[in-house]
Amino acid sequence: MISACKKMFLSMLLATSLVTNLNGCDDGGNREPAPPDQGGPALDATFLRPDTQGPTEDATPRDGTAPSPDTALDMSIAPRGHTVFAFPIHPDDREHIHAGLIIGVDHDPTSTSRILCENYEGRGFPGCYDEHEGTDFMVWGGFETTDAQDIRVVAAAAGTITRIEDGHYDRCSGDLNTLDVDCNGHEMVANRVHIRHADGLQSRYLHLKKDSVLVSVGMTVQCGDLLGMVGSSGRSIAPHLHFELRDASGALLDPYSPDDNEMNSYWSRQRVADGLPAPICSP
Ligand SMILES: [Zn+2]
Repeated sequence: MISACKKMFLSMLLATSLVTNLNGCDDGGNREPAPPDQGGPALDATFLRPDTQGPTEDATPRDGTAPSPDTALDMSIAPRGHTVFAFPIHPDDREHIHAGLIIGVDHDPTSTSRILCENYEGRGFPGCYDEHEGTDFMVWGGFETTDAQDIRVVAAAAGTITRIEDGHYDRCSGDLNTLDVDCNGHEMVANRVHIRHADGLQSRYLHLKKDSVLVSVGMTVQCGDLLGMVGSSGRSIAPHLHFELRDASGALLDPYSPDDNEMNSYWSRQRVADGLPAPICSP
């Protein structure tokens, strides 16, 4: 039985010809041994760091490509007393992320009402599902896009790798009629990376492509370092990145502020011209 909310969401998905996920949640904490060290992360010199970049007028990545339609991105970041996060997708790949369907954190996970999830204002997101513990960034074109090119996932802030999973089947897909996730008989486990930041905040990156994880536990990464590639492993019906933020005690946080006021946001800037968070690393 599909709820009215899910039916509405499905109608919207079909109407917009989107192939998307309905459940990118944590898969429940698979603890299988981590694969061997696959070498260090490739430092991404194009990722934006305000302390190494020029003034506002000159704020394009070093390879000269614009990270977004912003051609004069304001690089300043107001200090906020906690780790600040950049958009966790490589600037050159963000054009493949659907800014119009960002599936956010459920602010009322205990609710079993027909509004399956609630944002800060108590309303359902455009697309959401109950108990979602992160933010989903969907890939335009789904597998067709991720088969044609890698969509690179990068560290949203500097920190230490605390957990990885890799090697799991990455072509899980969903039935839009039943919302069931099908991993073609494979175990439904998300390939993932967890990072602990200097102030204890934790960021998590789920559903990565099989054998794409480029970091290992204990490794230190800088903001913008490559972690892996967007895939569809675990509870995912289409390629997307599930970005999850938790405090030092493990409590769930929403990186978005309710009012677009960046002082209340964990993003360096939560919405720039293309509708996605800014690719600006904290100094
Ligand atoms: Zn998710």
